[in-house]
This record gives sequence, structure tokens and C-alpha cells, in this order.
Amino acid sequence: MPVRRSARLPCYDDFKMSHQAAHAIVNLLGKPAEELRAILESRGEPSYRGAQIYHALYRERRFEFAVMTNLPAALREELSRAAVITLPEIVRRHCSSDGAVRYVVALKEAKPANVETVFMPEEHRQTICVSAQAGCAVDCQFCLTARLRGVRNLLAGEMIGQVLIALEDNRTALRPQTNVVFMGQGEPLLNYDAVMTALGILLDPNGMAISPKHVTLSTSGIVPAIERLAQEKLRPKLAISLNASSNEQRNKIMPINRKYPLEELLDSCQRYPLRPWERLTFEYVMLGGFNDSPDDARRVRALLGNLRAKVNLIPWNPGPLPFEKPDVARVDEFRRILQDKGMPAFVRHSRGQDVMAACGQLALSESAAASAAPTQNSPNRSEGFSGVRSRT
Ligand code: SAH
Ligand code: SF4
Repeated sequence: MPVRRSARLPCYDDFKMSHQAAHAIVNLLGKPAEELRAILESRGEPSYRGAQIYHALYRERRFEFAVMTNLPAALREELSRAAVITLPEIVRRHCSSDGAVRYVVALKEAKPANVETVFMPEEHRQTICVSAQAGCAVDCQFCLTARLRGVRNLLAGEMIGQVLIALEDNRTALRPQTNVVFMGQGEPLLNYDAVMTALGILLDPNGMAISPKHVTLSTSGIVPAIERLAQEKLRPKLAISLNASSNEQRNKIMPINRKYPLEELLDSCQRYPLRPWERLTFEYVMLGGFNDSPDDARRVRALLGNLRAKVNLIPWNPGPLPFEKPDVARVDEFRRILQDKGMPAFVRHSRGQDVMAACGQLALSESAAASAAPTQNSPNRSEGFSGVRSRT
């Protein structure tokens, strides 16, 4: 991935000045390796000290300088005065009967905001669903996140921090594989630079070392950003929220379709450079009586043409919005039509519905979640795990 350097990298003098001013101490969480190396170099330390901090932060998950035992004691001491490592703070845990945990996390950097992160354990892996923005301005009519007021982009460290706290909080029960999905609050491609910085750390073999096969970014279809993503060296898998079988239908539920209509969106998908092992995923939220007919299925099949793709059908997760869950039989018929016409299609039942942790339910509906299931401070991570497929 290309290195994104700001015009001038922060150096230790900045830290000292800000420290002296007793505010704006720099948070090292979310900084890429190059930046950490440059910071240390500017202090007269060998640049490999930056690489050691990078390793300690993202590979060893050490969040205090005092326990970065790969650094000399004097440097640890110096760092603890000059910089901080600020993780998002877990405000609440909502534990679903299916094993998923919805975290409400407080972000203290920049403008204070709360977002949600979901941890979903399975037999051999865990999937962590992260938010890329607080709220979302895309305004899809079926999605509760769209009802939140005020949108703020998350910093790279705030996205990496969500992954780290979810891993830490489940430290004793971790499975060998971690999947990360950018499917929480917000539209990741409207926070492009910070998301790419976070992805750089997640996918970097020297960073969090998660395989690109295990990281998925879902977008409502921001065409210029899809085209930009196509140029990146290090890329996650891409999922597109299709959700309708015609422009007319999509316009009604996704205002973004007026800006980037289906022809443009699918055109950018045609040009998207897939790796040999890769397929595009099309997500299709099934809204009862609105987009779930056999004719819709046939139109979706025609739209996708010869794309190397698969379709994930997501029965609508209810919220206080004017839509209905689809009939189970219609969902299955829809899936069968796609499948019979040569398009792999799967029904994805979202995890954590009883604690409002499912797709489109992330809207800090604290009271709804609290009344639906008991909130625990210490989640039981295995009890009640049903093995229902996750949203990826
Ligand atoms: N903003 C991005 C990623 C977050 S939404 C996007 O829209 O792709 C993740 C997925 O949840 C999207 O496919 C979206 O269409 C779906 N979704 C939103 N609200 C939903 C709901 N109430 N029920 C089921 N899926 C929903
Ligand atoms: Fe935003 Fe995605 Fe919800 Fe649409 S579905 S409002 S893009 S979070």
C-alpha cells in the first residue's frame, strides 16, 4: 500500500511541546510503521525502535510503554511522558444468546463519540465487525444507523482500537483465525484515507497479519472510491450492498443510488481487479413485499451478468422502521432462483439480533437492547453459541 505521509510528520519535539502545554499528547495507536520509525528517528533513536513499537502494539497487543520490554528502560520512560496509547473504552457489553457480543465503545479522541463493535465467535474463528464512522449520512431507509444524528469519521487508531479491544476482551477464548468486517456503523468508503491506514496495519504481515481473505469492506456503492480501491496494492475483500433489483426500487431505499446508479456501480464492479481466489460479494437485504419476489431474483441475476460474484441474502433485521421481515419461503425461493441460474447465493442470518447487534441495528438503541437481553459485565463467551453463520 502506498505510504501516506502528511506534509510534515510529527516528531518528539511536538510531543514535548504538547506535553508541556498539558494537552494534545499524540496517540501512537493507529500510526503506520513508517510514521513510528520517522518519529523515533527524529528523536535521534534508531528507526528500528519505531518498528519495535509497531510490533509491540499490533502483534503483541501491549498497550503500555512500561510493558514494551523490547525497548530500553530509558526510552520507555521517555515515551510514557511524551506519548500515549489510547484505546477506545468499553462502555457496555450486550451479550447475545447466540454468543455475539455487542460493545458500545467511547471514543475520546477528536470529537467524543460512541460507536459499536460486534464480536462473533464461531467454532474455528472469530469475526469482529467494526464501525468506520459514528452514524452514517448515506441514509438508507431500512437501516437504523442512518437514524443517528451527526456523523463523524473515525481515525485509523479508533478502527484498529475496536479490533484490539474485542480481541483483548475475549483473550482467553480466542480461536485461531480472526476475521474483520467493516460492516458496523458508517460508510467506510466515505472515510477512505483513515480506513486505508487501518487496513494497512490489519493486513500487514508485520502488523496484525490478518490475511486479505479474512478482511471484508462493505460499501453502499461509492463508485469513485471503489475505483480508487481497485488501484491499491493491499486490498480487503469487497462487498457491495445491492439491496434492489432496479434503479427505481433502489432509489426508494438508498438515496445514494441517485448519485451512483446501478449501471455505474456495476460497471465499476466489472472493472474491479479480482485476485484468483476472489469473488465480489453482493449483499441483498430482503425487505418483505418490497424486493423479495421471484421477479426481483431474476432481475438481480440479470444485473450481475458474468461477474465473478456471490450473493448474500440478509433477511431484514427489524427496527422501528416501516419495513417487514420477508417470508422464509420467499427468501429460499429467491436463493434457489439465483443458484439455479449459476449465481452462488446464501442466506445470512445476522448474529446478535436479540441485543440489536445485527446488520442495520447498530444505533445505540441502549434501552431496546437492555430490555431484550440481560447486560453482563463479564460475557460468557461460549454458552448459547448456536453456530449460526456470521454476516460475512
Ligand atoms: N455502510 C456499509 C456497511 C455497513 S452496513 C454498507 O451499507 O454496505 C452492512 C450491511 O448491513 C449492508 O449490506 C446493509 O445493506 C445491511 N443492513 C443495513 N440495515 C439492515 C437491516 N435492518 N437488516 C439487515 N441488513 C441491514
Ligand atoms: Fe449507512 Fe450502510 Fe446503513 Fe446505508 S446500510 S445507512 S450505508 S450504514
